[in-house]
Amino acid sequence: MAQTNNAKTGANGLHRIVIVGGGAGGLELATRLGHKLGKTGKAHITLIEKARTHFWKPHLHEIAAGSMDLQTYAIDYLAQSHWHHFRYRLGAMVGLDRERREVQVAPVLDDEGQPITPPYTRGYDTLVMATGSYTNDFGTPGVHEHAIALETPAEAERFHRRMVNACIRAHVQGTERGPHQVTVAIVGAGATGVELAAELRKALRLLVTYGLDQIDPERDIQIHLLEAGPRILPGLPERIAEAAAELLKGLGIQLRCSAKVSAVRADGVELAGGVFVPAQLVVWAAGVKAPQWLHELGGLETNKLNQLVVRPTLQTTRDDRVFAIGDCAAAPWLGRQGTVPPRAQAAHQQATHLGKQLARHLRGRPLKPWRYRDFGSLVSLGQHSTVGNLMGALVGGNLWVEGLFARLMYLSLYKQHELAVHGIWRTTLGTASRLLTSRTEPRVKLH
Ligand SMILES: Cc1cc2nc3c(=O)[nH]c(=O)nc-3n(C[C@H](O)[C@H](O)[C@H](O)COP(=O)(O)OP(=O)(O)OC[C@H]3O[C@@H](n4cnc5c(N)ncnc54)[C@H](O)[C@@H]3O)c2cc1C
Repeated sequence: MAQTNNAKTGANGLHRIVIVGGGAGGLELATRLGHKLGKTGKAHITLIEKARTHFWKPHLHEIAAGSMDLQTYAIDYLAQSHWHHFRYRLGAMVGLDRERREVQVAPVLDDEGQPITPPYTRGYDTLVMATGSYTNDFGTPGVHEHAIALETPAEAERFHRRMVNACIRAHVQGTERGPHQVTVAIVGAGATGVELAAELRKALRLLVTYGLDQIDPERDIQIHLLEAGPRILPGLPERIAEAAAELLKGLGIQLRCSAKVSAVRADGVELAGGVFVPAQLVVWAAGVKAPQWLHELGGLETNKLNQLVVRPTLQTTRDDRVFAIGDCAAAPWLGRQGTVPPRAQAAHQQATHLGKQLARHLRGRPLKPWRYRDFGSLVSLGQHSTVGNLMGALVGGNLWVEGLFARLMYLSLYKQHELAVHGIWRTTLGTASRLLTSRTEPRVKLH
């Protein structure tokens, strides 16, 4: 392994660590390194991010359903960088010159198309790629035009607005409307699709209680969950899938397995066998892949999902200076076959590990390998119904959990992220203030 990480080549002689992407993994890493190295003047930490605010992606289905307010949970990158001793630079990375050790960033335009920042390059001594993933449409016709993918807060909000509009439209039409006037089809019954279906059912029932009394939520609102595989939650243990399927049926969700979508239309989805499922709203939640621009970026090795292939040290296979974490990385699952799944849990663990290792490495110490610790899987089906399994030494193997305990474990996933980016005091104050304001606001977003 090249020991080039000790080089101090920045303008002020400091080692330059550039992190691209401030999501579940990247923001935690930038914050941690800011405190460890930026604050003490041991390295210069820069986060390049194309958005202005950070939002933890596993909450996107709650924004879509309207049960969470985006502004309450979004983190302003500029403020975060100021408080945690790193630099934030707005812009989308578009290229990499490994010879010159430079990241290329596209110009940023405002809503009127006027330039805010010109295209620029940013030099690095160590580069960490943390740009996440997108939904995989598997080349299905009509997805881009007619379906919404829950990839960004803006997409989730767009879905929510369309859902509220569909309800108001149905309410105004009164007795003239057809059966199942509001129909949502969710394609993909992985954790995202399952959680969205349950959250939507709860939110829609609530929404109509705010004066949309011409709608009967059970009769007029239908939610279809379509899965190409033989069962829901394909990546999770069978017992979780069975329990979740029972709960979904209890909520009145129409489950359809072995239903491969062949096309999405403006008025619904076509299935491979010729069946047509009418729907006003279609959400695409089937599979993830890294974006196309990552494919062989700067000559780095990528897999068929465009993920950067990394070694156990999280260094890319062809360049010791370039690391990758989170969904954009194909990291070996030590002790098992295959790569680590694209989960917030993995991104969090990698950020924690790399935060420690880069600090050590700068002191000339060798990098230790990262090992994924699978703490199990939890699926939230509304406020008090959560099912899953917990794994590891703490619970003595594989423990089945459900109900309120599982709900608390599920909520603790976000608390870990909050603690990593805010620390204990801000996390405690933020939680308390959200509890207070939740008493004075509608329980579902109405616009
Ligand atoms: C609806 C939904 C529910 C989920 N639920 C769960 C769950 O319950 N449990 C779980 O473990 N996981 C869950 N996940 C998966 C989890 O969100 C991801 O695994 C996790 O966010 C990956 O973290 P990351 O840091 O790799 O990427 P992300 O969190 O996606 O962050 C990537 C960041 O990179 C930025 N970026 C992208 N391209 C560029 C560029 N070119 N230049 C600059 N910046 C760029 C993006 O703006 C973003 O801020 C869910 C995902 C979704 C969508």
